[in-house]
Amino acid sequence: MAIIKIIEYPEAVLAEVGKPITEFDEELESLCADMFETMYEAEGVGLAAQQIGLPLQLFVMDCEGIKLIAANPEIISQTGEQSNPEGCLSLGKVPAVVVRAERATLRAQDAKGEWFEREATGYAARCFQHETDHCNGKLFIDHLPKMRREMVVKKFKKEKKMW
Ligand SMILES: [Zn+2]
Repeated sequence: MAIIKIIEYPEAVLAEVGKPITEFDEELESLCADMFETMYEAEGVGLAAQQIGLPLQLFVMDCEGIKLIAANPEIISQTGEQSNPEGCLSLGKVPAVVVRAERATLRAQDAKGEWFEREATGYAARCFQHETDHCNGKLFIDHLPKMRREMVVKKFKKEKKMW
């Protein structure tokens, strides 16, 4: 297993729509193992392939007891609303309040290619939505009004300079 460098905003790959996963082989399993390790090292709860420079329909997550690999993910139902702070490993975890569905159902394939559906609420539902967005080249700041989006980017850039 290996820890991979996390790609940060504004790298172009983060805005790329992921290609579908078609091969469910050892290579995919090893990639997912690296993604989990990278995510844990960064103390995140989810990581999409775009964040390690691969524009693919793939993410891993471990959030509130829901640990899974999602290939070709899709949010098939969402209900309710929640407004909570959200951050992203590709933006230095600078938080901003994002309005999301309170309950979401994820449909995806596991590392073996088996389709599954998983329902979640609250933080885990937020994670489903955040990571599925990544697979479609969308960042959480894309959900923010322009001024708040600029504030997150400004704060992130400022923090970067401090390193
Ligand atoms: Zn993210």
